[in-house]
Amino acid sequence: MSKRVRVRFAPSPTGGLHLGGVRTVLYNYLFAKKYGGDFLVRIEDTDQNRYVPGAEEYIFDTLKWCGLEPSESVQHGGAYGPYRQSERKESYRQYAEQLVKDGHAYYAFDTLEELEKMRQDFKTEQNPSPQYDHSIRMKMRNSLTLSADDTKRLLDEGVKHVIRIKISENETVSFTDMIRGEVSFDTSTVDDKVLLKADGMPTYHLAVVVDDYLMKISHAFRGEEWLPSAPVHILLWKYLFGLENMPHWAHFPLILGPNGKLSKRDGAKYGFPVFAMNWTDPKTGELTEGFKEKGFLPEAFINLLALLGWNDGTEQEIFTKEQLVEKFSMERVHSAGAKFDYEKAKWFNHEWIKRFEVSGLRLEVDELLEKNGLTISNKDYLDKVIWLVKDRCILLTDFVQQSSFFFKAPEALDIDAVKPKWNETKQLFFAELIRNYELSASWDAHTLENNFKEIAAVNDLKPGELMLPFRIMLVGGKFGPGVFDIAELLGKDETIRRIQKALTIL
Ligand code: GLU
Repeated sequence: MSKRVRVRFAPSPTGGLHLGGVRTVLYNYLFAKKYGGDFLVRIEDTDQNRYVPGAEEYIFDTLKWCGLEPSESVQHGGAYGPYRQSERKESYRQYAEQLVKDGHAYYAFDTLEELEKMRQDFKTEQNPSPQYDHSIRMKMRNSLTLSADDTKRLLDEGVKHVIRIKISENETVSFTDMIRGEVSFDTSTVDDKVLLKADGMPTYHLAVVVDDYLMKISHAFRGEEWLPSAPVHILLWKYLFGLENMPHWAHFPLILGPNGKLSKRDGAKYGFPVFAMNWTDPKTGELTEGFKEKGFLPEAFINLLALLGWNDGTEQEIFTKEQLVEKFSMERVHSAGAKFDYEKAKWFNHEWIKRFEVSGLRLEVDELLEKNGLTISNKDYLDKVIWLVKDRCILLTDFVQQSSFFFKAPEALDIDAVKPKWNETKQLFFAELIRNYELSASWDAHTLENNFKEIAAVNDLKPGELMLPFRIMLVGGKFGPGVFDIAELLGKDETIRRIQKALTIL
């Protein structure tokens, strides 16, 4: 690669960052790291109507949580700032004016009423929502239809106006997409997009091209939803900076939910997260749960996102970030939509929890337990608990249920699971077990199990039938790791106390 690799994630701060957005970040990040390049974040906030307070901080918090931090941004600084488009406002007008001078754009003075009238007047059955394009522009009030003098007078008088790109009719615009190959568009279907708005702010189309140029972006990667805008961007590149300077493009496949494009509503409907982290809509106060709070590890989250649209050509599914950097290639990103499967997402998380060292989980689990009213003072004990239960936890939040009983005797016992088959013999068995355990010199799972089985054999009982009651006594329900491992960790006093208490209820 001859040019220095510089890629960007260019979000508009309009709300929570969903799966697709984080995947765009990830692929940009991996590509930059692979080629020793730069990854920057540019905040595209030119549409002030869609600006949502808090969304920008949320984006950076998310990238931090995912471990995908840029080297340049509003928060990280850099030589190509400002990295917030609203702060670059002044730099865009000259490019729009240049386009007008070169005949590729024009001033349009149409009022909202005139635009609405145009939509009504030119509406036909085949064309129910006419656009401001080559077929209409000569019927409107703009610098193409007005005389040069009239245009100058209106501009001098400060009459509200926009600058629109002049898209030619019947031109084919083509470019090579790194994922899709050659992509072509017929310009006849493209409208004369506004480049500079009446308030002097650029639209996204102008700003994205100007900033990619000024920030020396070598590769512009984004979601497939931007593909229809590509012809406008290619033409702007051609008119402003020459096609040879244009970045290489790639448009990532859509992420599909159960009903087509994955939406926030799908998440609510099917009970899975769509946003990376909790997002509270500041207008409605509505909270949308994120992957983080649901109990996903960031390592698992980026791993599953990487595989939503890419694979390395083998069966391997678990990748660390470093492995992804090494293996990732744009050529292996598919163009077809990638289906998001929540069960599979959980599988990734489970695999990652299993692979994690206890020390890597300690902080998180400690916090979770604390949030659930359990303050853990003995950290060695906590480590042992984590080690014992972690393979059973699919989500981090599962640690609460899987380990609470180690710190606090269960409040309610699932008596119904035991009661129907409970009898005097079993009662006597447990009374004897208490005596035996009280006298036992060693307290390890192996000894406890042997003693348990011996007493069962002497009383002609099947240990299998006694195991469930024993588990219910210690845990409260039908879950958890091996019951003798639990007893070992709980210790002699606590184990005996729990058996005794249960016997009074049964
Ligand atoms: N501002 C656009 C967005 O919100 C960025 C599209 C692009 O990367 O060109 O996704």
